[in-house]
Amino acid sequence: MKYIDEFRDGTLARGLAAAIAREASADRCYNLMEFCGGHTHAISRYGLKDLLPANVNMIHGPGCPVCVLPIGRIDNAIELAARPGLILCTYADTMRVPASKGLSLLKAKARGADIRMVYSSADAIRIAQEHPDREVVFFAIGFETTTPPTAVAIVQAAALGLANFSVFCNHVLTPSAIANILESKEVREIGTVPLDGFIGPAHVSTVIGSQPYEYFAEEYRRPVVIAGFEPLDVMQAILMLVRQCNDGRAEVENEFTRAVTREGNAKAKALVAEVFELRRSFEWRGLGEVPYSALRIKERYRAHDAEARYAIACRSVPDNKACECGAILRGVKKPIDCKVFGTVCTPENPIGSCMVSSEGACAAHYTYGRYRDAEPAPERAG
Ligand code: SF4
Repeated sequence: MKYIDEFRDGTLARGLAAAIAREASADRCYNLMEFCGGHTHAISRYGLKDLLPANVNMIHGPGCPVCVLPIGRIDNAIELAARPGLILCTYADTMRVPASKGLSLLKAKARGADIRMVYSSADAIRIAQEHPDREVVFFAIGFETTTPPTAVAIVQAAALGLANFSVFCNHVLTPSAIANILESKEVREIGTVPLDGFIGPAHVSTVIGSQPYEYFAEEYRRPVVIAGFEPLDVMQAILMLVRQCNDGRAEVENEFTRAVTREGNAKAKALVAEVFELRRSFEWRGLGEVPYSALRIKERYRAHDAEARYAIACRSVPDNKACECGAILRGVKKPIDCKVFGTVCTPENPIGSCMVSSEGACAAHYTYGRYRDAEPAPERAG
């Protein structure tokens, strides 16, 4: 297949659904976690769950960059933006993530802070060049997909001698999060999250390759199939996982061969290794402190490290009491389990981070009305 429409072909999707139904053994369940928000989005948007037999369950994972950003780091960014003369640049989704005291970057901007939405780290560099008399901070978030562009910006700033540019680094690592889920008591001890296999990330894997997942498959005996974000990619990956479960295999397979290799992108990985190093620990929303799960800027680029320049103190801030994002990100609960889903919390007025980005499980369920079919509808306010 060559064109995007071909990966959305309904007839082929129904054919894959029939193969899954045929091959899924009726006397067992298949509990499969899609790690990425992109897959969650595709499952909701194209109604893939409706095509699957009842014993194939999809569990949403934590792979949505804004969903896992802890409140304390957004508070830090808002405090930075409040410094006189400072310009804070960030990606659009980050603007709406709820912070402490009912604030968000968008609300802080409305109150007068100079916060600018950018499409890329290169935009932040340009803004720093245009305003040599002002400090410009790029609030960098995301998984391995967005890390290389941040590394490019830092290297470029160093080469240009752009002294007014720095990065507040919040880049996190996918393999550590998967390990954390597999080590969690819900999976290992109490079994509230039965996990038979993973659909592995698409874009992340174009950078890191399929090799890092081999450890999970071997150590935890869970199959992983790396899949693209189109509906046929997801259906094909589910079929491949069902086959692995039936055969008792736990291997890393690659459905997304049109973009992912075992080794990944060597140039991007070298660039990331040049600029960043592992943090000992980092707080994830929902998962808590996860060891060696995030990156920080190396000493040699300290001049462009906002954490060092502004002595940013990290602190842990609990979620809104009504919000179940933490449990949803761990696969323990579903969006519909949250009492404020679709009533107080909507994409226009997100209470938790999972309702902000289209990749968030709550936003995907709400936007495509998935709660209306198989699940009880939320009670509407008013
Ligand atoms: S519906 Fe809103 S408050 Fe509830 S878990 Fe989802 S994001 Fe959090």
